[in-house]
Amino acid sequence: MSAASEFVPLQQLRSERGQRAVFCGLTGIIWLHRKIQDAFFLVVGSRTCAHLIQSAAGVMIFAEPRFATAIIDDRDLAGLADANDELDRVVTQLLERRPDIRLLFLVGSCPSEVIKLDLSRAATRLSKSFEPRVRIRNYSGSGIETTFTQGEDACLAALAPTLPVTAEKSLLVVGALPDVVEDQFRRLFAALGIGPVNFFPPRRSTELPPVGPGTRFLLAQPFLADTARALGERGAVQIPAPFPLGAEGTTAWLQAAATEWHVEPGRFAAVTGPGHERAQRSLSRHRDQLAGKRVFFFPDSQLEVPLARFLSRELGMQLTEVGTPYLHREHLAPELALLPEGTKVVEGQHVDNQLDRCRAERPDIVVCGLGLANPLEAEGLTTKWSIELVFTPIHGYEQAGDLAELFARPLNRRLRLAV
Ligand code: SF4
Repeated sequence: MSAASEFVPLQQLRSERGQRAVFCGLTGIIWLHRKIQDAFFLVVGSRTCAHLIQSAAGVMIFAEPRFATAIIDDRDLAGLADANDELDRVVTQLLERRPDIRLLFLVGSCPSEVIKLDLSRAATRLSKSFEPRVRIRNYSGSGIETTFTQGEDACLAALAPTLPVTAEKSLLVVGALPDVVEDQFRRLFAALGIGPVNFFPPRRSTELPPVGPGTRFLLAQPFLADTARALGERGAVQIPAPFPLGAEGTTAWLQAAATEWHVEPGRFAAVTGPGHERAQRSLSRHRDQLAGKRVFFFPDSQLEVPLARFLSRELGMQLTEVGTPYLHREHLAPELALLPEGTKVVEGQHVDNQLDRCRAERPDIVVCGLGLANPLEAEGLTTKWSIELVFTPIHGYEQAGDLAELFARPLNRRLRLAV
């Protein structure tokens, strides 16, 4: 039996475990620090952690950087120094120097977890000295058994219990979106008569959205399981929907909120129709090139299932395998229902087996992490870095064409190299 024929119909998704090749949750700091503009992320980690976020951030020159690493050195590891005293000293120095910081995250790492440094206690202790001027929270960005998008989930889940209380009916959009995308969605919700609408995370920590039993929330990202649970504990209720990727996904996502707010179908069509058509027109520019092309997803960003739905339904691409590190069956149910029947969906990772299957399939494009991209390119496969899909604005009608282009570009590059 060949590796590919072991798969079963969509209703029987496959899981596998083995060696993994993913980035850790510290990576999320790169987009979170851009979103929450008065927050600072202090990683309590090693030089490796510092290198990881510096290289993920690329070469950035900051007048005032908003993330840093408090390095745990050999003395701390050997128990010769009190890591808590050191941490208090570093935080005090930082907050004295930077009065613009209003929210400080102590971000745990593998080394801080290995020496069992309790950052939750540290955050409580330091809060006593610095609140209300600075809120201090903690979460883990450690790489043990995680994938890189879990950093955002852990960060938002840590904030959720501290959101203000409301009894008012309101819509909360959950997941970090670029400001330009947030503004587009705000305009659409306003035109639909849906509101008040808040976004989580907000642009400033002083604008944390209120939450309570009247809150209905839409996930903008599929990797926010812990955040959704924490919001549920505050009484908020999730609106199930596909994710707003592509024309179809965006319309379905808006429709889910519109149904909850009893928006008239005529009004919904009038508000969303022009954006839907613009998105379809921008997608049609890429459809000829992408239709029929075969795509293989390695598990990395947790965006794989919504992306696979978008690529197959709106661009006619063929899904050879859709790997995803974790599959939240409930959150992804509306997406799974839209995948072509028999799609091979694999949860978890056994990188060697996946590489074997990928090589056997010889897909036209492979979506994978940075660590796998170069070796696969060297074997003549065309790759797309999945991390780019988190750094780039891809949600909503106006970004649908850009999203398609992210997949068309590597194929064009390969064609040019082949000439
Ligand atoms: S948190 Fe762990 S996996 Fe991430 S850079 Fe630090 S040591 Fe590496």
